[in-house]
This record gives sequence, structure tokens and C-alpha cells, in this order.
Amino acid sequence: MEPIIEIRHLQKHFGSLQVLNDIDFNIEKGEVVTIIGSSGSGKSTMLRCINMLETPSGGEILFHGKNIAERGIDVNQYRSRVGMVFQNFNLFANKTVLQNCMLGQIKVLKKSKEEARERAMMYLRKVGMEAFANAGSVQLSGGQKQRVAIARALCMQPEVLLFDEPTSALDPEMVGEILDVIKELAQENMTMVIVTHEMAFARDVSTRVVFMDEGVIAEQGTPQQIFGAPRQERTKEFLSRYL
Ligand code: ADP
Ligand code: MG
Repeated sequence: MEPIIEIRHLQKHFGSLQVLNDIDFNIEKGEVVTIIGSSGSGKSTMLRCINMLETPSGGEILFHGKNIAERGIDVNQYRSRVGMVFQNFNLFANKTVLQNCMLGQIKVLKKSKEEARERAMMYLRKVGMEAFANAGSVQLSGGQKQRVAIARALCMQPEVLLFDEPTSALDPEMVGEILDVIKELAQENMTMVIVTHEMAFARDVSTRVVFMDEGVIAEQGTPQQIFGAPRQERTKEFLSRYL
């Protein structure tokens, strides 16, 4: 089967700082890939390259075989296929919950208002935020904001969802509810790439775990292998900090 996303020889540097160094990485339909690794290892930069928020310095990213750096790729259309959920939610602050979930559907997917509203309510219900549809997004708690951000991403019916530390900005008591939403998506075979420091969650939910270190994929494997029998010294050292 052809991967949805194929990353070949991805390089990224900021000035003289080499952040990603020759990354090869595929995402296949139905996979739940978690990316773990120390702060500064390049995890966010890799997701941001996949989401076209950063321009690679070298290598290529193919979406269904087509290079996303090619001219003529519509960034907004692409992001509707490959959605992203951020650490800091990135909701439109001056819009209601419902508007947040309708806007992209109307602008990018060209849905009618009625259709967009219906789908928005469906996904808000799914994440338990239906009752807040008309609330301003600034009034919500962090956990509620993140649930809305997930609903907003789902409204675009993406093929792949990228999550960059979706629980890192949350109070501890709200972490579980967000992880539960993501677990439910995993059970529904949503294709996802999730950067996380929640190791128990990564062990439960992943079909594959990728350990990044200093801009390279140092090791990857099943959760059983990575957590149970890491092969690389640096993987062991990293995981030992979570014991
Ligand atoms: P991680 O998400 O694993 O913590 P990042 O991808 O955010 O790592 O960052 C990797 C490295 O790239 C860090 O050293 C960070 O300071 C640097 N970096 C990230 N974004 C930029 C930027 N826009 N300009 C300069 N340096 C950056
Ligand atoms: Mg990061």
C-alpha cells in the first residue's frame, strides 16, 4: 500500500542550526504514530514541515506521491487533508466555538452554512462540547479549548491529524479527558501523528513509536519494543527519565 505521506531526506536548518538531519519517515493509513524525544530534538519542526508551516531546507515530503513543495499546491486545501492540533489550541479568539468549527468548512471545503453547522455540531457532540457551541472561545478552560480545537480539525474530515503536544499546556486534571478523545479516534482508525511526553498514553495508543534525538530518528518500533526493549543507548537514557 502506498503511504499517505512519504518524507525523504528531510532537512531543516535555521541559519547555522541544523534541526532536522536527513529524516526518512512514512505515514500509512490507519497508523497511530507517536513521536517522543527531548525538548529541542526537532519534533515540532518535523510536524510543522509536514503541515507546511515551515519550508524544508532539503529533501521532500510527498502526499499521495505528490511533492507538497510543488507550485500549484493550495496550502489551505492541503491542510484540510492533513490537519493539525497545537499545544496552545490556536482557536480564533474573537469567534464562538461553533464559528471556529464552521469557518474552514465554508471557506476551504465550500460547504453551505447549514451543512457546516450540522457537521460542527456532530463533532462538538463527539468531544462533549455541544453545550458550549455559542460560547466565546476565550471563556473556555484549556481542556475545553483543546476539545474544540480537535472538533474543528475533525470537521475538515482530514486523512491525517497531527498533534503537537496536545496536553502540554493543560492543567493536570484536564490531560486525561484530551487523551481519552484521542484514544477514541485511534479506536476509529483515524490516522494520526502525535508528539507527546505522555509515555503511558504512547504505549497504549500507538501502532508505532518514533524516538527523535538531535534532529534524527534515533529509533522506531512497536510500543512493546521501544518501551520494553529499546535498542539504542540514547533511547534507554531518555526513557529512564520517565521511570
Ligand atoms: P521539539 O519540538 O522537539 O522541542 P523544535 O522542533 O521545537 O523541538 O526545535 C528544535 C530546535 O530548533 C530547537 O533548538 C529550537 O530552538 C530550534 N528552532 C525551532 N524553531 C525555530 C525558529 N523558527 N528559528 C530558529 N530556531 C528554531
Ligand atoms: Mg515541540
